[in-house]
Amino acid sequence: MIIVMQPEAREAEIAAVEAKIRSHGLEVHVSRGTERTLIGAVGDERRLDPEMFDPMPGVERSMHILKPYKLVAREWHKASSVVDAGGVPIGGADVQVIAGPCSVETVPQMDTAAAGVAAAGARLMRGGAFKPRTSPYAFQGKGVEGLTMLKDAAKGHGLPIVTELMDVRMLDTFLEHEVDVIQIGTRNMQNFDLLKEVGTVDVPVVLKRGMSATISEWLMAAEYIAAGGNHRIILCERGIRTYETAYRNVLDVTAVAVLKKETHLPVIVDPSHAGGKAWMVPALSCAAVAAGADGLLIEVHPCPAEAWCDADQALAIDEFAALMDRLDAIARAIGRRVDRRVATSVTPAAPIAPDAKEAA
Ligand code: PEP
Ligand code: MN
Repeated sequence: MIIVMQPEAREAEIAAVEAKIRSHGLEVHVSRGTERTLIGAVGDERRLDPEMFDPMPGVERSMHILKPYKLVAREWHKASSVVDAGGVPIGGADVQVIAGPCSVETVPQMDTAAAGVAAAGARLMRGGAFKPRTSPYAFQGKGVEGLTMLKDAAKGHGLPIVTELMDVRMLDTFLEHEVDVIQIGTRNMQNFDLLKEVGTVDVPVVLKRGMSATISEWLMAAEYIAAGGNHRIILCERGIRTYETAYRNVLDVTAVAVLKKETHLPVIVDPSHAGGKAWMVPALSCAAVAAGADGLLIEVHPCPAEAWCDADQALAIDEFAALMDRLDAIARAIGRRVDRRVATSVTPAAPIAPDAKEAA
């Protein structure tokens, strides 16, 4: 961190800044220019914050030199991480597709969805048992019963499951139901207690971007999980809020490119919650794969018009199958492919070397 002193800063004020830096265990490097003095804090500057220095007398401004995140930064971990998601490698050479309905509704709905998405080549199945709804009067999800329905349907087709955890008190239940990947939704991206708790378990986490979160805030949220010891994190861009009202959110494709530079973690894209309309999903999915996304999270329902949640954005199974063909063509154009091994068992796929993608 560098603290820039005002031109008229007095010696006592400079000394006070130096003392504060030392009190946090860092060394001090003072550079006296013709007009002003710069004070460098040498050491683990993540212990310091501009808020500590900016109000001090004689200080003009202070700034971090290093990125605020470390465990998730590519700066410290050059190779891309491949996360084992219930036996499916995410972040390797292949693009992985997670598909299924917004919410778990009935056993036949889940069985038909599982059969359909598996036949089309999805490698994991999604489905919300606990739904974050804007209205308290809207369907809130099937709850624990929904976890069983999701697991049973997906297991029948060898698909690991991805489902949203909203409440820290349900974590043990998620583990008991062998949830393969825990999703943290956009509304909980900065629920720090929830992040800390999923940081303590050995289950991969899909961390969705907060709807108004900056890249830095998002990576700091991932850092919370990693700091607890769980490094199996997959970032999911799902669209951000802007002034535009013609679609639900704006898919920030730029974020994919930026994250690939900033972090070693895999990055996937949810085109369904971004566009909010089924007809937009193919175009946004293609854009995401072309931009380098490691996977997609797509809402698919056996009968979209009947869906209990997010009906307008769900693809029908035949639409999803057609999209998978298009996505594979896009992936191949950039030296990747969509992993469409139709799962016949739950045997984990062989892990892919961390740098396979760069070599592809
Ligand atoms: C979902 O995946 O169903 C969901 C609620 O997503 P988000 O948190 O991105 O809104
Ligand atoms: Mn949804």
